[in-house]
Amino acid sequence: MDNNDMELINRSKFPKAEISIFPTMTALANKHNAINLAQGFPGFGADPHLLELISAAMKEGKNQYAPLTGVVALKEMLSEQIEDRGGRCYDPIDEITITAGATQALNSVFSSIVFPGDEVIVLEPAYDCYVPSIELNGGITVRSSLKKETYEVDWSDVKRKVNARTKAIVVNTPHNPTGTIWKQKDIEELKNIVRNTNVIIVSDEVYEHIVFDDHKHLSICNEPQLAERAFVIYSFGKTYHLTGWRAGYVVAPKELMSEFVKCHQSQIYSVNTPVQHALAIYGENSNVHLELNQFFQAKRDFFLKCIKGSAFTPIVPQGTYFCLLDYSSITKAKDVDFARRLTIESKVAAIPISVFFKEKRQDQVLRFCFAKNNDVLEKAAERLKSI
Ligand code: PMP
Ligand code: GLN
Repeated sequence: MDNNDMELINRSKFPKAEISIFPTMTALANKHNAINLAQGFPGFGADPHLLELISAAMKEGKNQYAPLTGVVALKEMLSEQIEDRGGRCYDPIDEITITAGATQALNSVFSSIVFPGDEVIVLEPAYDCYVPSIELNGGITVRSSLKKETYEVDWSDVKRKVNARTKAIVVNTPHNPTGTIWKQKDIEELKNIVRNTNVIIVSDEVYEHIVFDDHKHLSICNEPQLAERAFVIYSFGKTYHLTGWRAGYVVAPKELMSEFVKCHQSQIYSVNTPVQHALAIYGENSNVHLELNQFFQAKRDFFLKCIKGSAFTPIVPQGTYFCLLDYSSITKAKDVDFARRLTIESKVAAIPISVFFKEKRQDQVLRFCFAKNNDVLEKAAERLKSI
């Protein structure tokens, strides 16, 4: 066969997939020298003490493979933290695994539970790593859209979509990109729906510590009837401003976790050793995570104050470090087009949220990340006000 006739890839696993909106908008922001409030990452560094701890761990020789499911001291600390918050008591040995961020945790969860033909219910707008992972494993994504404007779950729609083929329901609270959080009524609805079924819950709670206005984060871990059938996923990246360390964890009852570990071990084996040792010592002696609510609430309020008087209407978030701004009084343009224009002409980058809907629902809002220093937020707001 002539080399020119070679067809190494004649079929795509993701025929319709595009490169994720996050690096896409970051590249556009960099190209046009715009302020990047698009991709969600903090504009400030981690605690210098944590950086010293990782450097010490490396110098002490903690540089070989970590145990398969993670460094025990770190898992013990996490188990205690969850229990202290009123959550289920997870066995640190068999029911907690340290992962390369929440993304790998989610991927390994779907690999371990989804079989061809299984249905998985996803609430839209949905964070962009769920659907590819479900479908790569032969699963069928069943979407239920959050209600317009309030972004609450449409429980009657979810109920209609649960059937004997439903393998799992994906929960994300606090919710990216809308900034909404689940209330007790949502927890009760979910309990009613899964009662007497074999439906597994996959709960993405990476923003657990970023909840505002005296609301409480309602974790699936705190609900015994749900926790017994749930994987709950967390990210150190969000909690300690370390998105680049790629560190997270997943908790689940033993029966679920043992299947998870079979996938985890072939996908990554184990994750970064010095990072785990540093986090174990840091977490034991620090309450930084308990101060995050206040820290980010102040940022949210600062951003809202700065954009007052602009033509954008904020949808005030109850959690996460994202704020949706409604631009319907400015233009009728589609959000992807408006986000591009805003980056190129006004030099502020944001995320269009239609990309998180299969049918590209046009809510005429963009998502802005306010996890930035105040001078950056102020400058971005000035630019937004000039529109
Ligand atoms: N889930 C949600 C809702 C997220 O916003 C993110 C990242 N921002 C992730 C999962 C992935 O987290 P990680 O960076 O730890 O992989
Ligand atoms: N989760 C971050 C966000 O929502 C980005 C993560 C990524 O770039 N993959 O912006």
